[in-house]
Amino acid sequence: MLGAIEAGGTKFVCAVGRAGSVVERAQFATGDRPEVVLAQVVEWLREREQQWGRLAALGVASFGPVELDDRSPKYGFITTTPKRGWAHTDVLGPLRRAFEGRPIGFDTDVNGAALGEGRYGAARGLEDFVYVTAGTGIGGGAVARGRLLHGLLHPEMGHIPMPMLDGDTFEGVCPYHGRCWEGLCSGPAIERRTGRAAEELAPDDPAWDLTARYMAHAFVTLTCVLSPRRILLGGSVRKGGRLGESAFFEAMRRHYRAALAGYIQAPELDAGRIAGFLVPPDLGDNAGVCGALALAEDAWGAQQA
Ligand code: ZN
Repeated sequence: MLGAIEAGGTKFVCAVGRAGSVVERAQFATGDRPEVVLAQVVEWLREREQQWGRLAALGVASFGPVELDDRSPKYGFITTTPKRGWAHTDVLGPLRRAFEGRPIGFDTDVNGAALGEGRYGAARGLEDFVYVTAGTGIGGGAVARGRLLHGLLHPEMGHIPMPMLDGDTFEGVCPYHGRCWEGLCSGPAIERRTGRAAEELAPDDPAWDLTARYMAHAFVTLTCVLSPRRILLGGSVRKGGRLGESAFFEAMRRHYRAALAGYIQAPELDAGRIAGFLVPPDLGDNAGVCGALALAEDAWGAQQA
């Protein structure tokens, strides 16, 4: 049995399971005192060990930014987050002490979700794809040749610069960049633009079409840089509020093909097949925790090797 922890900005979801199936799960409010929620997580997992036996490995998929360089003394830390109480928090340390000798995989929440969708969800069987989530913020994980893309830090796709569409004067909400992708298309951006939460926005509100066009531009950028075989869009914004998920995806696909302008030719991008290229995720609310399970599996596999 493996242990999984999805560390989110609002809640921590813990689970025990194996091979992508969650056997038991629980959640705790993230709050502003890391030591409290981390102690709750440790206690819950230890109780599960009474029932299921010693956990073979753990996986942690965390909100960030996080330190992923395992040579750094801050490996496993949440670093510069604006979230109150959480800047420079050692997330991995307390787990290592509580589950000594067990391998623990650690990555960002979106990288975890990408791994989970690749192994058990909408990107199963693909070696090259991107998973994006748009909700409170926007983040993305890229898988290339079957491996999660890391680097200097980890990708921060939500902060790519965006073009200014004709007639749009919205200044964006990103405190760092204003009009980056997250600044234009996150839930808070839609709310600031319209004065309404995305879930309550009328189907014919022009903000939907604008958001779909900006999303399409960002997907074109990702396509040009990473050449994914599929792009998954998760998170709450994808549901399209009262417009509905399928209409919102149709609009994004149409604008995506228009923005590509026929330059990149592949059968997967044809009008008849684009619905299989830009897709919602499969794992829904379990995406994060299944991703953490996949990280645990990989950590266990690496230890065996
Ligand atoms: Zn930004």
